[in-house]
Amino acid sequence: MTARLLDGRAIAAAIRESVLPDVHAFTARAGRPPGLGIVLVGEDPSSEIYVRNKVRAGTESGLWVDLQRLPADASLDALLALVSRLNASDAHDGILVQSPLPSAMGKSAAQQVFDAIDPAKDVDGFHPVNVGRLVQGRAHLMPCTPSGVIEMLTRNHIPIGGTRAVVIGRSEIVGKPMAMLLLQRDATVTICHSKTPDLPAVAASADILVSAIGRPGFVTPAFVKPGATVIDVGISTVTDASIASRLFAEGSARLADFTRRGSVIVGDVHPSVADVAGALSPVPGGVGPLTIAMLLKNTVTAAQARLPV
Ligand code: NAP
Repeated sequence: MTARLLDGRAIAAAIRESVLPDVHAFTARAGRPPGLGIVLVGEDPSSEIYVRNKVRAGTESGLWVDLQRLPADASLDALLALVSRLNASDAHDGILVQSPLPSAMGKSAAQQVFDAIDPAKDVDGFHPVNVGRLVQGRAHLMPCTPSGVIEMLTRNHIPIGGTRAVVIGRSEIVGKPMAMLLLQRDATVTICHSKTPDLPAVAASADILVSAIGRPGFVTPAFVKPGATVIDVGISTVTDASIASRLFAEGSARLADFTRRGSVIVGDVHPSVADVAGALSPVPGGVGPLTIAMLLKNTVTAAQARLPV
């Protein structure tokens, strides 16, 4: 069996297209475009790429994107003061603080910052108020990556209700909200993590398997029920030639790519899973573009909710 590839770029383009009329209507009514404030602390190379893509996508969709940078040695107080200014600004409808934050800010920094963002502007959906609403099934702003996965499933007509779903990973930003969104759509959901015994057997019970752990090629065919849908959320940069050759066949285009560049972006799912799964989201070109599309959608939703009735 060769899995159907779930093209995240095409779905992301359709979502971005669908928000354009709302962006134009908002801009006409408010006299300004929806505004997204993005805060980037330091110069983490992956974060630089993610933020650049978010700024570009937002600008192309007609949003006003305000990138605010702080140096890597900025204090947590300085970051919280910036968030507070963006909360008070009329022109910023959405606020996103790119993680990870520099480790010098302390272990609880990300939580403190997410807690400080006005829930009405929390386009990442990480504020406890929005998490609570998500758990109760009445979320207004939902975390972008899991809601992008739901879009990927529904737009590909993959049924969720009545299926068994397994989510590998239990982070606040992906695993837990992912499980909640699947549960709300009537899947029977199991969440796995690093202490789960016999993980391959649990995973192999899934009709829908979502992996969000950040371990290159961790999910092998032994984890996959034949015909299952496999969604690969993981993104890792591989620079080790022995890992690249474990993942990609001799003579394959991906291995040639690695040899040329010295690195390659990979997911959690081993490419050989394509022989077992019924449908598979690729990395790159799967969930990543959807995350950005859902961020734009959330920004427009937040902007519309701030308009006076
Ligand atoms: P995270 O906060 O580091 O959480 C990783 C989770 O994976 C944890 O729950 C951890 O279990 C679990 N885990 C780690 N190793 C495991 C193992 N060997 N077996 C079973 N479970 C294991 O990561 P995250 O922020 O959720 O991100 C996960 C991945 O998704 C990363 O690769 C990240 O880059 C990617 N990501 C992609 C997008 C996108 O747009 N496509 C967006 C966000 C994140 P414990 O809790 O037991 O430690």
